[in-house]
Amino acid sequence: MRVVVASGTDIGHVREGNEDSYLVQDPLFAVADGMGGHRGGEVASKLALETIEALFTRREGTLVQQVEEANHAVFEKSLLDRSVAGMGTTLTAAMLEGARIRLAHVGDSRAYLLREGQLRQLTEDHTLVHRMVTEGELTPEEAEVHPHRSILTRALGTEPEVQVDEDAIGVQPGDRLLLCTDGLTGMVPDRAIAQILADEADPKDAVDRLIRDANRAGGIDNITAVVVDILEDNGTNGAAVEEATTGAPPVPESSGLAPPPERKGSGRGARIAAYVGVLIAVALLGFVGLRVYVDTQWYVGVSDERVAIYRGIPASVGGFDLHHVVVETAIPAAAAQSLPLYRDLSDGITADDRAEAGAIVEQIRQDVADLQASPTP
Ligand code: MN
Repeated sequence: MRVVVASGTDIGHVREGNEDSYLVQDPLFAVADGMGGHRGGEVASKLALETIEALFTRREGTLVQQVEEANHAVFEKSLLDRSVAGMGTTLTAAMLEGARIRLAHVGDSRAYLLREGQLRQLTEDHTLVHRMVTEGELTPEEAEVHPHRSILTRALGTEPEVQVDEDAIGVQPGDRLLLCTDGLTGMVPDRAIAQILADEADPKDAVDRLIRDANRAGGIDNITAVVVDILEDNGTNGAAVEEATTGAPPVPESSGLAPPPERKGSGRGARIAAYVGVLIAVALLGFVGLRVYVDTQWYVGVSDERVAIYRGIPASVGGFDLHHVVVETAIPAAAAQSLPLYRDLSDGITADDRAEAGAIVEQIRQDVADLQASPTP
């Protein structure tokens, strides 16, 4: 078997940066969708793919072990570097081994196989809504439009260990594999993806059209696609690979990893146009929800009658809490809530990041101390 590969990534119309990364290192292909404040998401997706690429090049371990190592690398970096604390990423990797494709997968990026015009999803989304569908709490139709449909139940790099989904499927000449991030699947329905993959003979044209259609539907998130065509070995060289890259800056020779493009200095007009595009998309589609990365949200609330810093959002969906306590302080919640400013503390005071949550706690501590220093009027 030989393959022809095309790949592309695009920032979309809304995001400030591109936190997606992809890897094309025949016979290994992968996409990763990073998450985390500041540069965290970008660092996580890139580091995960660099790690599996390095291990693959050195022939160390199985694909799943390489993904587990990537988890360690991202988790350790997030502990050591405060600026990327809490970062994580999805990772969907496919490796061609003879007439089989081996898959390793964490998160909600996806692998699909197009065979004889039929599109089949090869991976299972690790999302809250998918879990609720399998438990019969939501219908697949409800899941598609659920406002929290992008909340992940599993990500790479957010915990010391990760459970990696593993699969191997037989492939044959004429098969077409698609790896992509949710910036594509959240904007373009499966049947439209199938149509594009069936229509466009050239994988590069397919990638370009997938990205273009995701942007036309709103481009709410970064969009990444890798299309791998499985072809009959034409007798030249089994390792032959033709590669076409689109959308991304030149890929370094030493690495198949494409750094996400920056879009510095995009004009104000472009930004306004982007927002207008989004408003139109939301109005037209009605069901477009913004991705909620619960793990990148912070708030100050009450735990065990004390002021506490939470990660997540102060809500539950279908019985699943979307938050957990990160720091429980010694400040009694009742003292804070006796001040009008913090009366609604138990509903949660949201913060942009961990540092801001800490600053809110310090302010509460100060205000409570002041209150106790002066007699109540
Ligand atoms: Mn995404």
